[in-house]
Amino acid sequence: MTAEEMLDQIAAEVRSCTKCPLHQGTRNAVPGTGTPQAEVMLIGEAPGFHEDRQGQPFVGPAGSFLNELLALAGLQRSEVFITNVVKHRPPENRDPLPEEIGACAEYLTRQIAAINPKVIVTLGRHSMARFFPDGKISKIHGQARVIDGRVVVPMYHPAAALHQQVYRQPLLDDFRVAVPAALQQARQLAAQGKGAKASPQTDDQTSEDEPPQQLSLF
Ligand code: URA
Repeated sequence: MTAEEMLDQIAAEVRSCTKCPLHQGTRNAVPGTGTPQAEVMLIGEAPGFHEDRQGQPFVGPAGSFLNELLALAGLQRSEVFITNVVKHRPPENRDPLPEEIGACAEYLTRQIAAINPKVIVTLGRHSMARFFPDGKISKIHGQARVIDGRVVVPMYHPAAALHQQVYRQPLLDDFRVAVPAALQQARQLAAQGKGAKASPQTDDQTSEDEPPQQLSLF
């Protein structure tokens, strides 16, 4: 399976997912969008009102600001992949619950494996917690760390800066400085053979490529 086919399969599963109650009362699942060849993957928290309407991540006001932040990092939306920790909108935009994040985690794991991004940018606390369980966002924002061959950069959530001015400048600075630096570091790691390895084949492909093993009776 190609990365694109894997992402399509994950998206189809997300759209019919009932592993937690979040799908109830939503209009659309929001699996994620972007290129399967993305070097940079951005992971937000959960779809909001606009995302639920359109089935796309970060299309409301936080998304417009994210576009500005990406431009500061020299990136366009078309060259990254954007998704969230949970793929259905929580009621009233409340924080996702640990059990909802847990139910959805497998989709994110498979999306990361399919894309094999060099850099992961986490947006907000819930996304940060997946990679930095003990991290405090006010202490570690903008500080890249290599995790399993990828450079992971925790950032404040763009929506935080829309509500509280104090987060705006750190976000602008982190995207302008830390994202290009992370990409450079990640490309060096890849050139040295120290980057994350591409995704293992899916079960489907394995079964196509390898003849099934005969089970011995003895
Ligand atoms: N906030 C998020 O965390 N994700 C979105 O997709 C939109 C807003």
